[in-house]
Parts: sequence; C-alpha cells; structure tokens
Amino acid sequence: MKKTVFLAFLAMLFTFLPPLLGLDLSASAADPSPLPTSPPPESSAAPEPTAAAPAQERIRVLLADGAAELDMQDYLLGVLAAEMPASFHMEALKAQAVAARTYALYCAAAGKHGEADVCADPRCCQAWQDEAALREKWGGDYEANAQKLRRAVAETAGQHLCYEGQPVFAAFHSSSAGATEDCGQVWNPRPYLVSVPSPESAETVPGYVSELICAPLDFRDVLLSAYPQADFSGPEEDWIGPLARDESGRVASLVLGGVEIRGTALRALFSLRSTAFTLDYADGRFVFTVTGSGHGVGMSQYGANVLAQQGADYAEILAHYYPGTQLVQ
Ligand SMILES: [Zn+2]
Repeated sequence: MKKTVFLAFLAMLFTFLPPLLGLDLSASAADPSPLPTSPPPESSAAPEPTAAAPAQERIRVLLADGAAELDMQDYLLGVLAAEMPASFHMEALKAQAVAARTYALYCAAAGKHGEADVCADPRCCQAWQDEAALREKWGGDYEANAQKLRRAVAETAGQHLCYEGQPVFAAFHSSSAGATEDCGQVWNPRPYLVSVPSPESAETVPGYVSELICAPLDFRDVLLSAYPQADFSGPEEDWIGPLARDESGRVASLVLGGVEIRGTALRALFSLRSTAFTLDYADGRFVFTVTGSGHGVGMSQYGANVLAQQGADYAEILAHYYPGTQLVQ
C-alpha cells in the first residue's frame, strides 16, 4: 500500500514539473504546457496601441544546438504554439503574443544570455517549438492552427508592454486560484505585477484542482531532505503547524515539523502545481489539495481565455493582468 502511494507520489512529481523558481535573472515567465480547452468563439478588435519606439524585428534565440537569429514573428509563433493551446480565443492568443514579445524584449535588455536574447527552455525563459515539432504535435490540424496563431502574431506586430519606458517582466502562468499572485511573493516585487482577480474555475480549466497524497514516512523524508532540522518525533497529526496565507490566498508559509517553510519552497519540494493549496492529515496520510497551475504571477492564460470569451479584447486582458503598463508599438 505504502509503495503504491509512493509510486503515485513519484508519478505526480514527474507529471507536474514546476518551473524553476529563483532570482530575477533565472526567473521564467511561464509555466509550461497549459492544458487544452474547448474552442471558444471569435470576437472584437482591440483599440490602437500608443505609438512609441518600434520593437526589434529579429531575435537571437538560444536553441539546443546554439544561438540562431530568427524573425520575431516566426519566433513568436513558436512561443505561442508551445505556451498556449491553439484552441484558445483569438484575443487570448493575441494577449499571449504581446506578453511573449514583451518578455523576450525584457530578457534581451537584461542580458540574460550572453550570445542570445532569449532561450527556448521553459524553465529559464519561455518555451518555443519549431515547425517540425508543431507538425508532429498538431498533425492534420497544423495548417489551421499555424494560420490562427500567425494571425494573432501579425495583428499584434511590434506591440509590447512598457512601464516607465522599459519592457516589463511579463510573467504569465497557466491558471490562478481566484486571484493572481503578487510578484513579491515569488520574485522581486514589481508595481505592475500585483494580485488581481482572475475569472477561471473548475468549469473552465481541465484539472483545475489536483491532489497529492503522501504516506507519512515519504512526507517526512522529503521534508528532511531539505530541512534536516525538522522534528518529526511526535505523533503524525502534530506534524502540521500554523499556516499563513498571502493577500491572494496562496500559502505564504507553513510550519512543518516545527520549521517555517515558504509556500514557494513547498511547491518546489513536492512539485505542487501551485502554492494555492491546503494540507490535511486524515486516515493516516497527508493530502495536498491544490488549485490552479503555475507561479500565479502576471497573466493567467486560462483567465485570459475566459475574459476573451466574456468579450474583453487583448488590450483589455493585458491591462487587467499588468495594471499600470502601457501597450506600445
Ligand atoms: Zn533562458
């Protein structure tokens, strides 16, 4: 029984690999591989963005076999295809195209990679897939999907988000838990990455609530591997101590075995899909119940899709998730 539970735990570990968490320069904008959803209806055009300096048209991308200079539109098509289901609403795809361009410009300005502006590793920068990978992924839908995504990129050509004249750290994630996360809970705080409401729910996000079940000894050993000072000599039901939630409702910290551990650290340690979780001890096992997926900072992709279905255009979606930023071209 214990082995079965532990195998299930291992399966969870490998199923829900989270993005790397760390300092700003190792921060990823994205949580990879959002789950697919049903095709939404099309809708309205967006207002004209504010005129400003043009965005660069080419970008140096660090790939597995070295840096390659790509046309920005081709690069963004590959990011969009890798980061958001092609079935999403056109306005959500356009919002994602702008966020992806902005994040690439932010990385380029930060000099994150010496010989390249950005890399194609979703754990570092943002995911990117080439045409061969997309043909394999989409099969007979390749032409239709590629055409749809190319349109999202073309209709937002050159557009990106600025704050005080600089491209912003346009973080995004798969789905939130009622509200997005304040950037300061995960990385350095930014005035445009504060907690805002996000409308997705179990009805609009596949696998919105997930569960991780741990046998007590596995639970203890995982914690001791990172926190050897923790004390689990008492009864199992006493291992869980006080829990503190932040403004967005996510776990800021939780005391386990007498040690206060940040929610982000627990997410990484147990490969939880997000820090919006509860932890219970019942029937001789520990159960994490997790809502949403991703670090929670910036634009929620599923939230963007719901807002688009409700009639918001991409500029309104971006203004909602990145308040105080300017959409420029
Ligand atoms: Zn990178």
